[in-house]
This record gives sequence, structure tokens and C-alpha cells, in this order.
Amino acid sequence: MSAPQIRVFNTMLQTKVPFEPITPGKVGVYVCGPTVYSYVHIGNARTFTAFDTIVRYLRYRGFEVRYVRNYTDVDDKIIRAAKETGEDPIALAARFVGEFEADMKALRLLPPDVSPKVSETIPEIIEIIEKLVSRGAAYESKGDVYFEVRKYPDYLKLSKRKVDDLLSGAGDREIINEDQKRDPLDFALWKAAKPGEPSWPSPWGAGRPGWHIECSAMSRKYLGETFDLHGGGLDLIFPHHENEIAQSEAASGKTLCNCWMHAGFLDLEGAKMSKSLGNVVRLRDALQRVDAEGLRYFFLSTHYRQQLAFSDKSLADAEARMEYFYETLKKVDERIVGKDFGTGPLHGDPQRFLAEFDDAMSDDFNFTGALGVLSGLFGELNLLTDKPPVKDKPMVGRTLVALREVVRNIASALGLFETDASVWLLGRRDRQVVARGIDPKHVEAQIQARNDARAAKNFAESDRLRAELKTSGVEIMDSPGGTTWKVAAPPAS
Ligand code: AMP
Ligand code: ZN
Repeated sequence: MSAPQIRVFNTMLQTKVPFEPITPGKVGVYVCGPTVYSYVHIGNARTFTAFDTIVRYLRYRGFEVRYVRNYTDVDDKIIRAAKETGEDPIALAARFVGEFEADMKALRLLPPDVSPKVSETIPEIIEIIEKLVSRGAAYESKGDVYFEVRKYPDYLKLSKRKVDDLLSGAGDREIINEDQKRDPLDFALWKAAKPGEPSWPSPWGAGRPGWHIECSAMSRKYLGETFDLHGGGLDLIFPHHENEIAQSEAASGKTLCNCWMHAGFLDLEGAKMSKSLGNVVRLRDALQRVDAEGLRYFFLSTHYRQQLAFSDKSLADAEARMEYFYETLKKVDERIVGKDFGTGPLHGDPQRFLAEFDDAMSDDFNFTGALGVLSGLFGELNLLTDKPPVKDKPMVGRTLVALREVVRNIASALGLFETDASVWLLGRRDRQVVARGIDPKHVEAQIQARNDARAAKNFAESDRLRAELKTSGVEIMDSPGGTTWKVAAPPAS
């Protein structure tokens, strides 16, 4: 049975369309990356995780994906930040590229295949601006170069905005350098050098690129004039992606990208998480409180296009869910690893979960639906290990083995369960111990005292110790391998 065709919501068409790459079997993906003047927040991380999952799923479906995500390392915000610290702007940006890469590694996102930087793409940027000027789509003015919006009839085809609204200021467009522009709508492709700012020689004198042109130059350089998927957060639709389209299509005469994908916002207390509002949680701070897979589970718990509300409780719930998954995997692995259950029929059809997973993910990467499939799958694993509905033990064993393989497949496509279950569970316990102020040495000593009491058949004392541990938030589990413990869920408030 072959998997269904993938359908993707294309912002340009405002509807889901069948996904057909330009070159069969190969996909070019461009995602606008960070402006590196500070640490990433979990809003940025949500968008990058969405596209990481989309790329993983496309690879899982057998596509050869070329994933490009840029660094904006030349920009007004970087220059401003560098003035404050007294650093060279390019050096400050390079420092935050390093911090960003450390954060992405901690979140365990796949490194893109290419991560170009503006500072390393200047010749290609100049080339495309020259082309726009020679075609009459852009003009030079006092060392700046502007894109002439009125000459590009398709402007605003992505955002569906109206020129009049932009001019009346109803759009959130900042109109600057009006004396240099032929029209207030025109936007800068190249900015003449100012003292203390990074600059490069160009046919229009020393200067630096405007923001939008970099993505036109980089996507062309690494994916060609027309490519398959272009992604970013919703806030990039206008003006950034609109301007990318105008520049690229006016220069090449071709469609820039066949499908535009936009991730919804992560909100904190009802407002979009953003550096300008100051309501940010840095990714590295979040990862002190929650494991990377717990955070990933939280991001995937809502469809990538929907808005997602962040709260401490939502993070705690996501990690508790991951604990359930890992406890299940640990239990199942103890049951099946190293055992031979022979060949023969299975109970039910484990493969159905893979088909359901493909149905969900083929429908515009329905993460929520995919996690629902995972819930059903883990329900089945628990049922078969705890209360098998059939008596045939080898059959149950074989089915568990098959279901475990299904988990591995789905996990590879979602970027979950990459850690050994025991290691993950101990890591979770360590975080909870700190959060709840539990002393692990004291817990171990009490468990030892309880074991001694049991050996001496002093069950009243062993029960008392168990109850005492429970009151302090520790749950103990006895198994043939010995007594282990975990931090119990806090009482429902
Ligand atoms: P920036 O570094 O501000 O250019 O943002 C990098 C990426 O994060 C872009 O794709 C933005 O659209 C995205 N982004 C910024 N804030 C949020 C948010 N609160 N929720 C989701 N994505 C966001
Ligand atoms: Zn971009």
C-alpha cells in the first residue's frame, strides 16, 4: 500500500495543494533563518522545529531534500547591538551564529544542508541588484538602490494587501528615506555606507545590502531560480516574502517558489513572543527546565499553522507525556530485547499505525494528528504488556517487536525518542529532584532502610518508609531487578 500524496497549504493560493516537486524525488527547501544579534527565543525555535519536522518527514517519504536556512549577519539591529557593546558588527553576528548553533544542537534540530551568511554572499547580491537596475526594475539614488514597486504589477500577491492601505499607513510599514525614493512604497536593495557600519564596494559605491535581497540571492545560489518550498513565520509574509518575490521574479522572469509555507506564532500571555515586546523566553533557559524532546513534543502538539500558547503548565504537561512514552518503551524493551519469539501470526495489524501516521502527515503535515496516532500506538503497547487480550505469549512478543519497530519509524520522522529510555527517565528525575527540592541521597538511604526492614520481615517499618517517601513526593517501584524510584506527579491543583 503506497502512502497518500502529500498536500500542503500554500499561502499564495490560500488552500492545500498536492505537493509535486520540480524534479521528481528531490525537494529544495528554503527557510528564512535568524537575525543574529541576540539569543533565539522559543518562538523562533517553534518555527525552526516545524520546518525541521517537515524536512524529516519529506526525507522519511524518500525525498532527497536540500534544506537551506540563512543567517542574517548584516542588518540594522546587529549594527545597533554592536554599538551598544562596542563590538565589530560582523564579529557580534559571528558570536551569535555560534550561540544559535549551540542552541539548535541542544534542541537537536538537524543542521540544514547549507547555512549561508549575508557577509559571504555579497557578490551574488550585487549581481542580482545589477540585473534589476539594468532591467529598469530598480534605480540608484545617492548611493542607495531601491526597488521600484510600481513597476512590478504582482506586488502584494502573497499577502493580498492593498497598496492604498500601505500608503495610508494602515499597513505596519515604516516609510523612510522618502526624499531619496521615487515612491514611498519603494524599498532598499542596497544602502550607501555610513561611518562605522560594515560595507562592501559596489557599482553604486561602498554600502551594504538591504534585508530582503539576501534571501533572493541565497535561494537562487543554492536552489535555483525556481524551487519547491519556502518557509518562515507568519510575520515574514509581509514585507519580507513579498519583497523577495518582487526582487527574484523581476530579475528572473520566473516564479520564485512553488509553495509558500508559514508557521503560526508562539504566544506568551496572549501576545506574540517577540524581542520588541520583551515577552521572550530564551530557548536555552527553557531547556534548563524541560528536556529537548519535551519541548519538541510541546511544539508538535499544535498544527504548525496554528497559534500556540506557551505556559509553564503546557511545558510540564508535554514532559509528563514524554515520561509516559519513555516508561512504556522501557517496559516494552525489557520484555522483548534479546528474546526470540519465533515466526508466526501477529495480534492485529501493527502496520496500520504507519498508514494512519502517513495519512496525518500527508494532510499538510498534521502534527497533532500524528501525535494522536502515537497515543493509539502506545496504548496498544501498554495493553499488550500489561493486559494482553490473547494468551499466545510468543504472538504477543512478536506483536510487541513489530510495534516497537513502528515506533522507531515514526520517531525518526518526528525527531522524538532519540534517547535511551533509562537515560531519558533519569534525566527527567534529575530535573524534578532539583525543582521539588528532593535529596536523592536521602531517598537512596530510605530505600536501603526499607529493603533491610523487608529482609528482616519488619513489614510495618517497610510500609512506614514507603509512605514517608510518598509524602515527600517519591514513588518507589519494586521489580525483579531491584527497587527503583521516581518523583511522583504533584497532586492536582
Ligand atoms: P527573526 O530572527 O526575528 O528574523 O526570526 C526568525 C524566525 O522566527 C522567523 O521565521 C520568524 O518568523 C520566526 N518567529 C519570530 N517570532 C516568532 C514567534 N513568536 N512564534 C513563531 N515564530 C516566530
Ligand atoms: Zn528571507
